Amino acid sequence: MSRFFSQKLVKSSFYLSAVAGTAYAANSYFLNSANVKNESVAAIHASYAPLVTSRPPPPTRSELLNKLESTEKFDVLIIGGGAVGSGTAVDAATRGLNVALVERTDYAAGTSSKSTKMAHGGVRYLEKAVFQLSKAQLDLVIEALNERAHIIQNAPHLSSILPIMIPVYHYWQVPYFYVGTKMYDLFAGRQNLKSSYMLSSESAKAIAPMLDDKELVAGLVYHDGLFNDSRLNSTLAITAIENGATVVNYVEVKQLLKSQDNKVIGAVALDRETGKEFNIKATSVINATGPFSDTILEMDKDPKGLAPEELRPPKMVVPSSGVHLILPEYYAPKGMGLLDASTSDGRVMFFLPWQGKVLAGTTDTPQKRIDEYPVPTEHEIEDIIHELQKFVKFPVRKEDVLSAWAGIRPLVRNPDEVTEDNSGSTQGLVRNHLIYKSPTGLLTISGGKWTTYREMAEQTVDSIVKDFDFGKEVKPCQTRGLKLVGGVDYDDSFTSRLIQTYGVEEKIASHLSSNYGTRAPLILEIFKQSRENQLPIGLAGKKDLSDVSYKDFEFPFTVAELLYSIKYEYTRTPVDFLARRTRLAYLNAKEALIAVDGVVEILARELNWDTKTKQEKREHVIDFINKMGVNQIQ
Ligand SMILES: Cc1cc2nc3c(=O)[nH]c(=O)nc-3n(C[C@H](O)[C@H](O)[C@H](O)COP(=O)(O)OP(=O)(O)OC[C@H]3O[C@@H](n4cnc5c(N)ncnc54)[C@H](O)[C@@H]3O)c2cc1C
Repeated sequence: MSRFFSQKLVKSSFYLSAVAGTAYAANSYFLNSANVKNESVAAIHASYAPLVTSRPPPPTRSELLNKLESTEKFDVLIIGGGAVGSGTAVDAATRGLNVALVERTDYAAGTSSKSTKMAHGGVRYLEKAVFQLSKAQLDLVIEALNERAHIIQNAPHLSSILPIMIPVYHYWQVPYFYVGTKMYDLFAGRQNLKSSYMLSSESAKAIAPMLDDKELVAGLVYHDGLFNDSRLNSTLAITAIENGATVVNYVEVKQLLKSQDNKVIGAVALDRETGKEFNIKATSVINATGPFSDTILEMDKDPKGLAPEELRPPKMVVPSSGVHLILPEYYAPKGMGLLDASTSDGRVMFFLPWQGKVLAGTTDTPQKRIDEYPVPTEHEIEDIIHELQKFVKFPVRKEDVLSAWAGIRPLVRNPDEVTEDNSGSTQGLVRNHLIYKSPTGLLTISGGKWTTYREMAEQTVDSIVKDFDFGKEVKPCQTRGLKLVGGVDYDDSFTSRLIQTYGVEEKIASHLSSNYGTRAPLILEIFKQSRENQLPIGLAGKKDLSDVSYKDFEFPFTVAELLYSIKYEYTRTPVDFLARRTRLAYLNAKEALIAVDGVVEILARELNWDTKTKQEKREHVIDFINKMGVNQIQ
């Protein structure tokens, strides 16, 4: 003991004399340290680009429409503004091509707003690849794993990494799932998001207390990306516009324009807002209409470029539908998804925390026809509830369903190889995409996944660059590292920066930063302008609401957000705002119904609607939301 003390004393006296003898040095050390500290604080400040609080307004829809009508000839005309069409517009525009894109409804009005919202390679497809010893299937998984990382890099504000647990109920499954998830990591290579790991049954129960744990033996956790599909879609459209493309929603292609030698040279388009028809000419035309690819292919076959009066069964697209529903947040662990790898009919079912709620669902029910607005049936909703009940401890109640929707997946096959009897199950189809070149020069891109939209776009533009002479140098693909609108200068501390700059609550700051990224300050500038702009959207236009605030509401959707979305994101209807620019209708259909009148009021004022238009738009949005499971779950 004494030896220990004496040693300590010697050491500390040595230390003291050393310090005394080098007072200046020590002093300067402390000065330096302060400097270093100041420098690092300064560096932190400097490393943050100033918040962009103003920017010139983007072209209005009518300016874009004028450009569509008056441009003599575009390099590329893209038909369809879903993930694939909008992604292709970004790719082509950033290579220096003069691009037009027309979308008959709104961005993501088709399948691209109705997905499971996962940026994934697909653990199930990896399983298939291994069991079928299929290199093609494996390549597909690897391709998607690469693209998964691109989505997260390019749109960091709209996507995140999500751990997903596979609850394991039999010991023999432990090595099976363990090896499977490790292979998933391995095939992602450098693009792997995070390593998978195994949880004991105790840990799995602690993380997921809702799980039926009677026979739970372990949990296997792997990682995928989760994103906001319709917001990513409109962000792509806006990014394309920022790069010079002429992208317009509510414009439908009614006919293909053909040259004397039967080449497609453009399209007859209809502005669905005014009913006006006009021609758009282009060197190359791309059909990116997803499930509706066959309709444009029918026009392509017709010498006059017209669609047949009665549509034939689709040849290229094999429609398969999927239904999802939203449940309260307590149905899944916080920040971790669950995967039921063995539903009664062999499909997989996901339960994912998304936007503060739980998204549950599956895909792969073969369909005979393609509806523009598929609606989930009561049976489909009950089916998901039934599957969920199998591994949730407490009763899964139908009245807990907050919203439900159905989407059509455009699985594809080569139309040249399809016989007259074109029936067939979707289960055996590879979820790969197909670039189909018609003899007329029309190029159709369909299939694939949301996750692979960027690569599909790259290959499509590579293909037209090879086949058409644009009379100018076309750059190679630019989209691998391209940050989309809102993703530039974004990092996870952006919410804090909004709170510090605007003095708003965490609730609205985090909502805006995770939906608009570095564009959020533009909304908060509008928010600051007036008391009305700060109102929750459902109360827009109401008088004497001095005590009411977005803080009192579950979802902080405000009038400011709607005003921004009209000016900067081409919102034209209440459905655009309630279902796609925000996800209120998806998160809680009944809440969205409550917000209808406020949204209609502001849109009518900003877009100068007459009483009839206002009434029509109101009826349309109510009908739309009523079909999101509201009637089925009452
Ligand atoms: C239930 C379900 C879950 C899914 N989950 C996932 C997932 O988690 N991850 C994943 O990676 N993928 C997922 N997918 C697949 C993914 O959603 C689709 O592959 C993708 O959205 C298809 O995009 P698209 O642009 O080809 O089609 P769409 O989004 O349907 O776009 C086609 C567009 O063309 C427009 N159009 C049609 N005709 C015309 C015309 N004449 N003139 C102008 N415009 C026209 C339509 O209005 C539509 O907006 C899922 C699919 C489904 C059905």
